[in-house]
Amino acid sequence: MTKKEKVEQILLLLREQYGPTKCYLDHENPWQLLVATILSAQCTDDRVNIVTKDLFQKYKSVKDFAEANIIELEKDIHSTGFYHNKAKNIIACCQKLLSEHNGEIPSDLDALTSLAGVGRKTANVVRGNWYGIPSIVVDTHVKRLSILLGLTKNHDPVKIEFDLMKMIPEEKWIDINTQLIAHGRKICIARRPKCNECFLLEYCTGGQKLQKGK
Ligand code: SF4
Repeated sequence: MTKKEKVEQILLLLREQYGPTKCYLDHENPWQLLVATILSAQCTDDRVNIVTKDLFQKYKSVKDFAEANIIELEKDIHSTGFYHNKAKNIIACCQKLLSEHNGEIPSDLDALTSLAGVGRKTANVVRGNWYGIPSIVVDTHVKRLSILLGLTKNHDPVKIEFDLMKMIPEEKWIDINTQLIAHGRKICIARRPKCNECFLLEYCTGGQKLQKGK
């Protein structure tokens, strides 16, 4: 089986199992998605959704965040971890959105990554999930699974993103992230993957090695 055929099978099985999935971070507009994604660094999506439920009632616009008191915002987002940096970045990010983008969220990758606290991962979440622009988000699940499945030999998220872009058709870029997250949560759980139950075992380099090592 060629690598292309293997990738096609993996994509087909992931789609059969999980379908087209939706973003796990609750949001109603692009600035909420941007703030939620900044908060999601080193934090679970479930925790972020608990925090943003109240946060977006209190801060109702980019302007509200731009004018936020940092000590108060730190308290509001405390439970997401790294709250000092996250609060500082959210305020600086929203100030720049107001001064340079009229409070709108740009869809351009360079414009997004020039905002405080916004790297390629966060930018791609917004581009893919809000604007529908083909983008591959490499988070911890996508990184771990891409390596296990033998789709990349790299460990750097940006290099992995480019490896995946080369082998996955553009129309699947947005879904692959949420499908791999679903798989990482349900079956390929970090440190205790359920390879015996996994529908990808036949195509998974890492899973086959783990099975042989038993
Ligand atoms: S076979 Fe094992 S390692 Fe590979 S994706 Fe499935 S659970 Fe993960």
